[in-house]
Amino acid sequence: MSTVLYKKVALIGLGLIAGSMALAMRRAGLAGTIVGTARSAETRAIAAEVGFCDSIVDTPAEAAKDADLVVLCVPIGAMGMVAEQIGDVLKPGCTVTDVGSVKGAVIRQVSPHIPDGVFFIPGHPLAGTEHSGPRAGFAELFDNRWHLLTPGPDANRDAVSRLTSLWQGMGANVEEMDVDHHDLVLAVTSHAPHLIAYTMVGVADDLRRVTDSEVIKYSAAGFRDFTRIAASDPTMWRDVFLTNKDATLEILGRFTEELFALQRAIRTGDGDHLFDYFTHTRAIRRGIIEAGQDTDAPDFGRGKGAK
Ligand code: NAP
Repeated sequence: MSTVLYKKVALIGLGLIAGSMALAMRRAGLAGTIVGTARSAETRAIAAEVGFCDSIVDTPAEAAKDADLVVLCVPIGAMGMVAEQIGDVLKPGCTVTDVGSVKGAVIRQVSPHIPDGVFFIPGHPLAGTEHSGPRAGFAELFDNRWHLLTPGPDANRDAVSRLTSLWQGMGANVEEMDVDHHDLVLAVTSHAPHLIAYTMVGVADDLRRVTDSEVIKYSAAGFRDFTRIAASDPTMWRDVFLTNKDATLEILGRFTEELFALQRAIRTGDGDHLFDYFTHTRAIRRGIIEAGQDTDAPDFGRGKGAK
């Protein structure tokens, strides 16, 4: 049986994550009413047509008024501005959370606008696709994915526990994490890999000997996966790198060292080094599958009927 955890939920920003949250909340009956708003009239109109919210309003302040839960679903660089717009209307006892992919920068931007008596509990769903906008959402996005909360030592535990139940109700596994640790872990698992994918696709595009049609026609699994990642939203990823600068640069420094070591092994014909390295990385892949975070189906399960 479903339990309504928040009577009124306000979604600010109506793209992939907000749309998926609304559909997942509805699937489990976790919200009384869901009110949404987005920056442009066009996005608001599409969201109204798709119909994942009960109502759509014009401004963040209208959406956040009387809300029991406000979720900031805008790009990281816009979080502070939106928080400033809603700070005055937040009712005491309300919980504010976000879904930004970087936590330190969001906390620094948003916290100054949160009034006393309102609970700010930052969060990040480790789930997404390369699609964006109000038509991109689907109810299953968070199923069996991690949602990381970074509540801080003084957080209201009742509010954290209710928000945890919401994400669990939407299908996610929830864990709490220290803010800086979150940003370093995500630099390794998500941010640096995206930058490498962007670079690889850019390199292929620069290679004049390989025509565009060859790149597309012969795109083997490795390159095709890079192109999918490199199709991710430019605004979102620009903001990720600008706001998680130190952790990303730290990981890229290590990446460059490893790349040079592999480059040397190839040049000197050091097959043992290459074999040992690839054996180690293969074990990491097995660990990810055993943890249920990916499939071992051939072609990443993309066969018939797969998304
Ligand atoms: P999205 O599909 O591109 O939607 C973004 C929404 O934010 C749109 O409604 C957009 O409105 C609004 N917006 C954009 N710029 C704004 C601004 N300057 N002021 C106010 N509103 C603005 O984005 P998303 O993929 O849902 O991502 C939203 C958040 O989730 C980001 O912080 C991202 O880091 C995080 N996240 C994303 C993923 C992923 O894979 N996509 C995964 C985990 C977390 P308009 O359409 O009217 O411009």
